[in-house]
Amino acid sequence: MTIVGIVGAGVMGAGIAQVALEAGWEVVLHDVDPDAIERARDSVRQGLARRAARLDLDDDSIEAWVDGRAAGLRHAHVLDGLATEASLIIEAALEDLYLKRTIFRALGAEASPEVILASNTSALSISEIAKATDRPDRVLGLHFFNPVPLMALVEVVPGSSTAPETVERAEDVVRAWGKTPVRSADRPGFIVNRVNRPYTIEALRMVEDGVADVVGIDDAMRQAGFPLGPFELMDLSGLDVNLAAARGVWSGLGEPARLQPSRIQERLVATGRLGRKSGAGFYRYADGRRGEVDPEFARRPGRPLGADKIRARIEAAIVEEARFAIDDGVASPDDVVTALRLGAGHPDRFLATL
Ligand code: NAD
Repeated sequence: MTIVGIVGAGVMGAGIAQVALEAGWEVVLHDVDPDAIERARDSVRQGLARRAARLDLDDDSIEAWVDGRAAGLRHAHVLDGLATEASLIIEAALEDLYLKRTIFRALGAEASPEVILASNTSALSISEIAKATDRPDRVLGLHFFNPVPLMALVEVVPGSSTAPETVERAEDVVRAWGKTPVRSADRPGFIVNRVNRPYTIEALRMVEDGVADVVGIDDAMRQAGFPLGPFELMDLSGLDVNLAAARGVWSGLGEPARLQPSRIQERLVATGRLGRKSGAGFYRYADGRRGEVDPEFARRPGRPLGADKIRARIEAAIVEEARFAIDDGVASPDDVVTALRLGAGHPDRFLATL
C-alpha cells in the first residue's frame, strides 16, 4: 500500500494527508469544496516545513524534503478518481451517518474489492457505515486524534463484519505512519471518548453540587499532572463539541445516570458560550488569550473540597468507567491505558492505578 485516498480535506483530512506524506506515501485528496483542497494544501505544506525543521538537515535539504513530500499530494475532482488508485481510502468528511453511508456506497461500487475503506468517525457506528457497501469485511474505523501530526494515537475499530486481515493491514499502515494503534470495539465513544468522559462530567458535577469551583478544580488537576484542567479543556475543544460527544456516549449506552450530560454545560451551549472560539466559556478570552474565570463561576464554595479530594473524585470516576468499558469488551486493559496516555495525556502515576 503506498497510495492513500482521503475523502474530506478539512482539519482531520489535511492532518492525515500530512502524516501519510511524511511517511513517503502518495495522497489523493477529494473534497466537494475546492477551497478546502487549497486550504489543505497550504496547511500540509506548513506542517511538512515544521516537521522538516526538526530533522537534522541543512537548509537546501529541508526545502528538497518538503518539496518532495508535498509533490506526493494530488487532488481528485471526483470520488471515482481516488477509488481507482488507492489501496486504502480514509473518509474524514462531516460527522453525519447519511452522508458517510452515501460516500461508502459510492466507494464500495468503484474501488476494487481488496481496497480497505476506513472512516475517521468519532462517534458513529462502523457497522452501520459498512452496511452501505457490498464489502463490509473491508471496512473499519481509523479514529485519528486532533491535531493528527502531533497525536500518536489511532483507535482501530472493526465493525461486526470486518475481516481480521483488514484490521491487521490497517494496523500495519498506522504503525508505518509512526502512530500507535489500539483496538476498540464498535461501541459508543470507542475508548478515549468514553473512558475519559468523567474527566469533564465529574468536574461539572462538583460545581453543580457546590463542593468545588472551576479554578480550584483546574488547578488541582494540573498540579496532579494532567495537561489541562477539565474546564480549560472544554473551553479549548469547544463546549458544543464536548457536549455532542457527551450526549452521544450517554444515549448510546442507554442513558446511564453516571454519564448524564451536565445542565450547566447544556445551558452554556444553548446561550452560545462555546469556550475559546466564542470568546467566553468557563473563562473569558480576549485576542485569543485566556483571561479571568467568568464571574458566574468565580465564587468559591464556603468549604471547598481540597485538591486531593477533587483529584481522587475525578480519578475514581475514570477508573470506574474504564472498568465498565473493559467489562463491556470495548478494549483490553493495556489498550485502555495506552489510549488514555496518548489520547488524553494522563500522567503515568494515575495510569499505574488503572
Ligand atoms: P471539517 O469540517 O474540518 O472537514 C470536513 C470536510 O469534509 C470539509 O472540507 C467538507 O467540505 C468536506 N465534505 C463534506 N461533504 C463531503 C462529501 N460528500 N465528499 C467529500 N468531502 C466532503 O471536519 P473535521 O474536523 O476534519 O472532521 C472530519 C471527520 O473526522 C468527522 O467525522 C469528525 O467527527 C471526525 N473527527 C474529528 C476530530 C476533530 O477534533 N476535529 C477528531 C477525530 C475525528
